[in-house]
Amino acid sequence: MRKYKSGGQLETVICNCCGKKMVVKNGVLREGAISVHHAWDFFSEKDGEVHHWDMCEECYDNLLGQFRLEPDVEEQVEFI
Ligand SMILES: [Zn+2]
Repeated sequence: MRKYKSGGQLETVICNCCGKKMVVKNGVLREGAISVHHAWDFFSEKDGEVHHWDMCEECYDNLLGQFRLEPDVEEQVEFI
């Protein structure tokens, strides 16, 4: 869950899973988190709904621990 200041700067990020308030400094999230924005389509029970949520890295690791198959992981290519 994210809150923005009136100027559009990121103010708060809260993990939707555990409720932890994550560290945000000068509008930048300063710790690991995943941000989900998903538009459900016609083939779902939530057609027309767009879901937004955030999860801290600890909850993400716990969630992945419940997966039967691990996600595909690759090295991110950084352009400096
Ligand atoms: Zn969490």
